[in-house]
Amino acid sequence: MKIPLLDLTRQYRQIRDKLTPKLTELFESQQFILGRPVQELEAQMAAYCGASYAVGVSSGTDALLLSLMTIDIHPGDRVLTSPYTFFATAGAIYRLGAVPVFVDIDPDTCTISPVKLAETIQAMPQTIKHRLRAVIPVHLYGQCADMEPILHLAADNHLVVIEDAAQAIGAEYRGKRAGTIGDFGCFSFFPSKNLGGFGDGGMVTTQTEAYRDKLHRLRVHGGAERYRHTEVGGNFRLDALQAAVLSVKLPHLDGWTEGRRNHARMYARLFRDAGLLERIGLPVERTGKHVYNQFVIRIPGHRDALQRYLTEKGIGTAIYYPIPLHLQPCFADLGGKPGDFPESERAAQETLALPIFPELEPQEIERVVDVIHEYFRNR
Ligand SMILES: *Cc1c(COP(=O)(O)O)cnc(C)c1O
Repeated sequence: MKIPLLDLTRQYRQIRDKLTPKLTELFESQQFILGRPVQELEAQMAAYCGASYAVGVSSGTDALLLSLMTIDIHPGDRVLTSPYTFFATAGAIYRLGAVPVFVDIDPDTCTISPVKLAETIQAMPQTIKHRLRAVIPVHLYGQCADMEPILHLAADNHLVVIEDAAQAIGAEYRGKRAGTIGDFGCFSFFPSKNLGGFGDGGMVTTQTEAYRDKLHRLRVHGGAERYRHTEVGGNFRLDALQAAVLSVKLPHLDGWTEGRRNHARMYARLFRDAGLLERIGLPVERTGKHVYNQFVIRIPGHRDALQRYLTEKGIGTAIYYPIPLHLQPCFADLGGKPGDFPESERAAQETLALPIFPELEPQEIERVVDVIHEYFRNR
């Protein structure tokens, strides 16, 4: 039995009959740029997340970049974030000439540690602290970072809070949904995210009207009126085609999320029943509703060998992320070195993502656990 890490064709078959008329309508209209499909999705997303405003953009990466541009991040400004995340989180900061300041993760949740965040701010020389503008907590794998202490630190230090919610649409933290806790919420519709388009796409949510207005301008080259530019933006538009697909998918999202959460519970039960909890660490649900964009286990000492074994048996897995960002060659000028962020470096060595997509069958989950059991039997 081959079990892929992700199989999008199963979801497509489920919604094909709803998608086809919607796409045909768009093709007949030949109106591909912004317009009603994008406005409709923005309204749906704002309602879904509980945000005042939502602005459709070209990708999750651009959602981060635009949020930073909206608050006028300048060269030399500092932005705090985690080194254990997808590259785009820090890439967006760096592209504006600003400096990512990394803060290690909490080993249980793999999200930014509020304790270390406080220590990092505390230890900064006053001259650098002056340049501190924002913090980007990442809701990694589908679980919100521990936002309350982060919001306190941000308020005390006048920092804007930009949530990287690319993996966490629908996740909850103390009654609020991801993306509505800070000043900006950044979402990705990359096909492998919990709400995936048929290509690239993203969304920024905010509660602040002035931010919404500026996001609208920056998305179309910084012109409030056509051909009159008050600032320099870019082409950061969400395609109407993607918006149409996502509008059909969004009403299904909560059901799909329940599927992911059920799978996570089943994995936990099966790993426990197999007596494997001494060998592997399960995801820890600590800050609220986890939406399991990824189901990531820890296998100290055996990660790479287990991954090879699973690959041989036809089971898809992935390593998110093998190289923490402070050790990326392109960030060498920031001076990061091994040992700087031990928890991120350990996570990079120990973590492995298993299949968790909603349409996975119970027998497939049993098979994944059986094969992992088999691997450990003689070790
Ligand atoms: C996917 C992802 C992004 C980037 O989203 P794209 O749509 O691929 O540009 C940013 N941050 C995190 C944490 C992600 O998982």
